[in-house]
Amino acid sequence: MTAISELINPMPGCRYKDTWLAPRLGGASKHYGCDISRLPDGKLIPYDYPIKACLPGTVEKVSRNWRAGNFVWILTETDKGAVITSYCHLNSFAVKRGDRVEKGELVGGAGNTGNSSTVHLHLAITINGRRVNPYPYLIEADKRARGEQEVQPLLKYGSRGGEVRQLQSLLIEEGYRIKADGIFGKATRAAVQKFQKSKGLIADGIVGPLTWAALK
Ligand SMILES: [Zn+2]
Repeated sequence: MTAISELINPMPGCRYKDTWLAPRLGGASKHYGCDISRLPDGKLIPYDYPIKACLPGTVEKVSRNWRAGNFVWILTETDKGAVITSYCHLNSFAVKRGDRVEKGELVGGAGNTGNSSTVHLHLAITINGRRVNPYPYLIEADKRARGEQEVQPLLKYGSRGGEVRQLQSLLIEEGYRIKADGIFGKATRAAVQKFQKSKGLIADGIVGPLTWAALK
């Protein structure tokens, strides 16, 4: 079974921003993904820049529509359930339906197909059918790729101390009206869940690496 924490950046080193739920189509829709749109040196992505599979899995769909352009779906059974990684706006395909792919294997080449104005990859992720924000997953993936072993405390209801105070301060900066008293009580848990929901994370109220990545 694949752990979702094994996920890699499909364009290692390339740059992206957190635009989860940003308005799209003149406000008629929202952004349910993460766009990788710059090379490591900040330059634009060239056509057919290699896009790699984030996780090992099976190619579920290779198709196109007006919005996603050419896209590939890869299904992975993970420790968190069925994950579909979706690679959109491709210029070319390197896989076909039913293919088994390894993590890091070529999926296709970057493009500007569908509702897109520049060559980029729109990466979307669902877990058990629920859309999640790829951004914190990518931040975590890049940290692992750089070999950073940052020790981030797992905080949850009942936790206490300086790390809880640090968490509360970050939530206060995000606009949540809680006290930085170092006690992870009901108010802090409610704020964490609201924050997680707003960032497209699973709103379990537990602060792990993905929530830390979204907070910083
Ligand atoms: Zn996008």
